[in-house]
Amino acid sequence: TDTYGVDEWSGGYFHIADNGDLMVMPAPGKKKRAVSIKEIVEGIRERGLDMPVLLRIENILDSQIAALNNCFTHAMEVLHYQGKFMGAYPIKVNQQQQVIEAITHFGSRYHHGLEAGSKAELVAAMGMLTDKNALLICNGYKDQEFIDLGLYASKIGYKCILVVEMPSELPLIIQRSRALGATPLLGIRIKLAAQAGGHWGESGGERSIFGLNTTQMIEAVDLLSREGMLDCLQMVHYHLGSQISNIREIRTAVNEACRVYAGLAMEGANVQYLDLGGGLAVDYDGSQSNFLSSRNYTLNEYCTDIIEAVMTSLDEVNIPHPTIITESGRALVAYYSMLIFNVLDVTRFQPEPLPEILPDTCPAQIRNMYDSLQELSIRNMQECFNDIIYYRDEVRQMFNHGKISLRERSLAEKIFWTTINEVARLAGELKHVAPEIADIERVLSDIYYCNFSVFQSLPDAWAIDQLFPVMPIHRLNEKPTRKGIIADITCDCDGKIDRFIDRKEVKRFLPLHELKNGEEYYLGTFLVGAYQETLGDLHNLLGDTNVVTVRVLENGEYEFVGELEGDSVADILSYVEYDPKNLIVRFRKTAEKAVRNGNITPQERREIMQAYEMGLRGYTYFER
Ligand code: PLP
Repeated sequence: TDTYGVDEWSGGYFHIADNGDLMVMPAPGKKKRAVSIKEIVEGIRERGLDMPVLLRIENILDSQIAALNNCFTHAMEVLHYQGKFMGAYPIKVNQQQQVIEAITHFGSRYHHGLEAGSKAELVAAMGMLTDKNALLICNGYKDQEFIDLGLYASKIGYKCILVVEMPSELPLIIQRSRALGATPLLGIRIKLAAQAGGHWGESGGERSIFGLNTTQMIEAVDLLSREGMLDCLQMVHYHLGSQISNIREIRTAVNEACRVYAGLAMEGANVQYLDLGGGLAVDYDGSQSNFLSSRNYTLNEYCTDIIEAVMTSLDEVNIPHPTIITESGRALVAYYSMLIFNVLDVTRFQPEPLPEILPDTCPAQIRNMYDSLQELSIRNMQECFNDIIYYRDEVRQMFNHGKISLRERSLAEKIFWTTINEVARLAGELKHVAPEIADIERVLSDIYYCNFSVFQSLPDAWAIDQLFPVMPIHRLNEKPTRKGIIADITCDCDGKIDRFIDRKEVKRFLPLHELKNGEEYYLGTFLVGAYQETLGDLHNLLGDTNVVTVRVLENGEYEFVGELEGDSVADILSYVEYDPKNLIVRFRKTAEKAVRNGNITPQERREIMQAYEMGLRGYTYFER
């Protein structure tokens, strides 16, 4: 059975081979062109790169761009839509140069453009986008420098659309267009009354921070009209929020936006583009539902529903069909990256051997715990469970007041865990158990210590409880006999993953395999290509991981097309304003003093200095 629900969340890009390896399949469903991820990881290690590694499969990005563009085009043909589709990738979703380079490369056959939400993103976009038929959409708050850059982009031939997000931007855009002798292409970001649920729903709605309300829109139209520039206003734009799980919310928003579009057309604006922003969700948990980490629609339904909604609203008022733009980011890039890490150690909460008889000096509370364990049966399970918790708390109190020894506390803990394990075993025989007893399974689950940082590589798992598929990348033909949660190597109690995808509900532990002596156990977290890389932070000074990009070839072989070493300790220290050279000088003085004091020999000083300098050059993660 598919313990980890691969068939459900993988979008057809992954499957399990008979030898138990997780395979990546860049052309969904084509198992002949599948490559073992473990084999790629071994290749990465042979090349001298350590775990954790962010692995990107270039073809998946290619396939996702093709899927979005082809799906829209196909649905337009089927429905006899008169306009066309144009995508613009929002740089904020993953700004890494390799990613933007790949998107502009694979996107060029569809004239897939870029969306920039800040000056830095616009500068990156202008450097990376070579296709002048693709759109360059400028969102975000704009100062004069931002506006000028956008106008220059227009002058040199980009289809650069300046989207007015704030009423105050428009006079400045008009003034700068005149000053630079440029004719701007303008869009208006509108505030919709429609609002979506979910983590990012507040991007929409009347109280949304961005966009113009209807009165401000009319004022903008009047101003442009007075300035003789109303024909520059060509686009209506909105963004309802990211990861919109419910198709109904998408339809409602499109409908409202079309009314605004029609209204602006009737006011004399030269509208031609309708930009729906992002929101196309990713089914992280494979449930195909309107859970936050899923979506209750397919890509085809998304495209069809949007086109139908546009046609229904605009045909009624005889307004030509616009070019539909989406700024899908998450759905384009999520599938293409996975984080692979190794397991370093495991803690278990299992019974330890107990003495046959307790020492005479044993405090009554511990004796009560012991007796309770002896009497435990399926009938008095709940009572024993309550007693053991009560006495465990008492023992802790007594220890804190100095009334029992460390050894006695250790004995109490052994009795406690033995009892809890036994209660869990008995509960397994029952159909219905009390919630606190059902929760024991979670309490008893192992802790797998893994070589990565949640804060650096999966910030949304920590910040907003985003679920990502997590699973071993090998041994999948062996039954996982353990249940565990995942702890990272930061020293932070939040540095863990203890919520996992499930078909129906969030699972509180993950089925995992026993570690084997002398053999690495690799896990992967999937669908991490969107938002995670640059939102991550330097908690405990764990830095960027190594990044490897692979291209799978037609014959099922693959090649490494990009290797980017992660941060070294020196890199990370310089981010927080240390000067590594200065650190060496300072430490050398400390070591020299130790020589003078006779604590170490000059020879030892040399060895210590070498270790220190090696440490500065090393990877910030656990190295084997
Ligand atoms: N466009 C705008 C204006 C956004 O703010 C965002 C992200 O929140 C996106 C597009 C990308 O959205 P998504 O990743 O849901 O496609």
